[in-house]
Parts: sequence; structure tokens; C-alpha cells
Amino acid sequence: MILSVASGKGGTGKTLIATSLALALSEKDKVQLLDCDVEEPNVDIFIRSNVTQSYPVFIPIPKVDEAKCNYCGKCAEVCAYNAIAVVNKKVLIFPDLCHGCGACSYLCPESAITEEGQEIGIVEKGNSGNIELIQGRLTIGQLMAPPIIREVKKHVSFKTEVIIDVSPGTSCPVVEAIKGSDFCLLVTEPTPFGLNDLSLAVEVVRELGIPCGVVINRAGIGDGKVEEYCGKQNIPVLLTIPLDTRIASFYSRGVPLVNGIPEWRGRFVKLFEEIKQKATLPGSPLSLRGLSRAKRGNSAKQSS
Ligand code: SF4
Ligand code: SF4
Repeated sequence: MILSVASGKGGTGKTLIATSLALALSEKDKVQLLDCDVEEPNVDIFIRSNVTQSYPVFIPIPKVDEAKCNYCGKCAEVCAYNAIAVVNKKVLIFPDLCHGCGACSYLCPESAITEEGQEIGIVEKGNSGNIELIQGRLTIGQLMAPPIIREVKKHVSFKTEVIIDVSPGTSCPVVEAIKGSDFCLLVTEPTPFGLNDLSLAVEVVRELGIPCGVVINRAGIGDGKVEEYCGKQNIPVLLTIPLDTRIASFYSRGVPLVNGIPEWRGRFVKLFEEIKQKATLPGSPLSLRGLSRAKRGNSAKQSS
């Protein structure tokens, strides 16, 4: 199963849940943990892996051959991100806005555009016991998180359980990280801010057609509105973690919850089993594995 752990709001304890799940499951089996919070990856603070492999991620940025260009403006017209402009017989490229989609070079009528790779970050692989960690890291100053997330997700294993730590919010990097999951666990806190951001996150996962459930962290600090919302929306609350200074203290020292308070291990294993029963069935067209199987099937058909 591919389980993504997300939260509309930052600071709700998403990484605490993702790492605790991975550590609890890794007692019996191999687990893959993908840190797709590439702007601020922090899973490894808790997992403490030995990084064995690291490689750069590039996106293709257009380069114009002025000798071939007739300044027709087609490239600027097709760019959905305003990353290229044609002004006074000059083609201006804004690399920070470029998504490396290739549309401008593909559609240039004069074949005046080539592409050159621009490094935007790295992907690292490491191991810690039964956990294989793959993390993306966006270079400071770079803006394009989705290509790094896609690169991290290329490593998804079809032989182990996969847990994805998603960045907070509901923007493009979140969609990129969540899509293809069999289930999305939404971590929230019982406050008006938590509820507001949870409802936005629910809209995203529903738009993607992914089943979801909620973990309420720091229960006891707010009101009962999150439970009320989940009840009305028919979203299961799968785990409640009380406000406990011991948990906060362990977290601040980089000690995972299940290591600091071992009785939580069993609860996380049970949580995962419950999620498995609610998740997209294996092979469903919604799941990344389903998509991959479908792709493999198609290529097999094409080659036969
Ligand atoms: S589409 Fe090609 S020829 Fe037209 S302005 Fe852009 S680079 Fe120049
Ligand atoms: S590669 Fe895509 S995003 Fe970048 S300038 Fe060309 S059309 Fe725009």
C-alpha cells in the first residue's frame, strides 16, 4: 500500500505520524519512507539513516538561438507560466518561473529553442534498519518542488509498504506527492485553524479520488469541531493523540514517538491495518501501483 501522510496546516505533527508508522511497521518487515516535503525535509532527523546515494535533479530550461529566431512570439504564447517573453526583438527567459515542460521548444516553428539542464536540488537514498529512506531536497532559492517530488516517487517499491511524508498546505507539491496514493492520512489539531486547513486538504484528496482518514494530534487543546466536521463529512477519525508534554519533549530532541513511548508502537501497527482495510483496492486505477500495472500492461500489449 502507498500511504501518504499530509496536513493542510504546518506544525500539526505530520512527520511524527509518518516516522512512527514507518518505525512501527519496520519491526516486522521492510518499509519505504519517502520524504516529499522537499522544501524542508526532516524525516531523517528521526530516522537517522546512513545516506548511501545522492544525485542531482535537473529541469530543462530553454535556450534560444537568436540566429534562427524570427521573434514570432509563439513560445511566449504557449508558455502557461509566463516564463518566456518576446519584447522588441528579444526573447527573455525567466528560469525561476520555468517548469521545464518543453512546450516552447516543441512548438517553436523555427526550431530555435534547445534546452539546458538547471540543477534544482538532490535526491538522497539511505537505510536505517528495515527502513529505506528516499528524500528530496530543493536547493535554497529554487522554486520548483514538483520535479524533485516526481524524482523521489520514481523509487516507489512494489514489494514493500510505502509511506510518503507530504509537505504542509494544499498547493502543487502536495498534489504531486499525494497523487497515486492508495490512502491519504490527514493529520490535524482540534483548533479553528486546524479545521479550516483540514477542510481544504479534504477537498484536494477528494478531487484526486483518494480515500482519506484523520489523525487528531494534541487532542484536548481545542474544541470538538474537528470531530463534528469529520462526522458530517463521513471521514473516519482513525487515531487521537493527546496533548502530552512528553511527546513534545521527545519530538524536540529528534526522538520518534514510538521510540520515546514504546506502547505507541502497537497503536500505529493497528492504525496501519485499519487503513489497509479502507484503502483503494490493490490494482485499482486510482492507485500508483494500479497505474503502474496498467502501464506495464499497455507496454506489454504494444510490444506484443
Ligand atoms: S517561437 Fe521560436 S522563433 Fe518564435 S519567438 Fe520563440 S524562439 Fe523565436
Ligand atoms: S519549458 Fe515550459 S515553462 Fe519553461 S519557458 Fe518553455 S513553455 Fe514555459
